[in-house]
Amino acid sequence: MDILISGAGVAGLSLAHWLRRYGVDVTVVERADALRDGGYKVDVRGAAVEVLRRGGVLERVREVETRVRDVHFVDARGRRVATMSADVFGGREGEDVEVVRGDLLRVLRDAADVEYLFGDWVEDLEDGDSGVRVRFGSGAERVFDVVVGADGVHSRVRGLVFGEEERFRHDLGHHVSIFTSSSAHGLDREELLYAEPGRTTNVYRTAGDDGARALFLFRSPEHAGRPAEQLARAFDNAGWKVPELVAEAARAQDLYFDSVSLIRMDRWSSGRVVLVGDAAYAASPASGQGTSLALVGAYVLAGELVEGLEGAFERYETRMRDFVTANQALAEANLKGMVLSSKAKIWFQTRMLRLLPHLPGRDRVIERITEPIRRAATAIDLPQY
Ligand SMILES: Cc1cc2nc3c(=O)[nH]c(=O)nc-3n(C[C@H](O)[C@H](O)[C@H](O)COP(=O)(O)OP(=O)(O)OC[C@H]3O[C@@H](n4cnc5c(N)ncnc54)[C@H](O)[C@@H]3O)c2cc1C
Repeated sequence: MDILISGAGVAGLSLAHWLRRYGVDVTVVERADALRDGGYKVDVRGAAVEVLRRGGVLERVREVETRVRDVHFVDARGRRVATMSADVFGGREGEDVEVVRGDLLRVLRDAADVEYLFGDWVEDLEDGDSGVRVRFGSGAERVFDVVVGADGVHSRVRGLVFGEEERFRHDLGHHVSIFTSSSAHGLDREELLYAEPGRTTNVYRTAGDDGARALFLFRSPEHAGRPAEQLARAFDNAGWKVPELVAEAARAQDLYFDSVSLIRMDRWSSGRVVLVGDAAYAASPASGQGTSLALVGAYVLAGELVEGLEGAFERYETRMRDFVTANQALAEANLKGMVLSSKAKIWFQTRMLRLLPHLPGRDRVIERITEPIRRAATAIDLPQY
């Protein structure tokens, strides 16, 4: 089999890695000129940890863990009003790992010895009985047995084969923005979190960072204007060091800005074209499970493909569907806890966080909070291929 993967993100690189292990010829086309390793930190949990282990890369991923220790909640004057262990805050347990997305990408890329076409993309494709004829943006044409869309929430392959994004995208009424700050903000493997009604700002510095990274998450149903302008409007008159961060974001080279959205589709394949990761079933940053879904999806798709092309995509969907549904369901509930709607809720949350270490049933309370994530992260029996 000769397979084209569109997109060198977590899903695309992980799929390339698995297919190479099975001896399949793989080409990865990535629109960016180099690996898009811009980074926020992401969690790998449950079944996805097992996928990394089976792929022989878990130890390498552990070497680049963020090793963030604590999350401090700050008030408008920057005073630390409550502190929580970063693992508890992130709902991680056991072997779960937190890693900067770019570091994970580099580990996967180093493990996947395949042909890369950077700075190019699938311009058009024609699916036929004997293969998929692909015309690239560069003008080149080639025929592949299978084309995989691993090109993210705004997947072009999905657009070409299944139709407009609006049919599948469910916006959760919020936007997220991230950039790398040149200042370390006095942090050493720590995270600061500042909440106001409808808007949350988060600054963290991982083990490998020179500066720090800032993340803005805010309620805003619509895209309106350029990212920097929208940020400035959304965080107008905010407290703490938010105005300074918003001003720096406007000058940042790596400003990331997008709506918080799910992708929901009835089918993830059509003919010889199939989708994986965010392109098929984005769960949004609010779920904290997008990376894990991409890793597990790539593992299952690769495994089913090498069992034989006939019926492979149906088997992939059958095995993945409930896992996807369970993880997408986390997003909306999590979002309510990440962006609080009133001052009273922020006050209450801060009080609870201060009390938590002193509560007699502390571990049980934490277990109850993290239980839905744990259940979703392990809601699949991984086949052995
Ligand atoms: C702020 C934020 C925080 C997050 N936190 C977490 C977290 O804590 N835990 C978690 O599990 N997940 C998290 N995620 C989500 C996670 O990063 C993604 O869900 C996951 O990486 C899935 O990746 P993917 O490979 O499907 O898509 P992407 O990572 O989006 O990769 C798609 C790739 O395709 C390329 N591409 C796009 N269009 C084309 C084209 N036309 N042709 C060729 N290439 C193209 C892109 O350049 C990119 O390299 C977070 C996301 C954000 C934004």
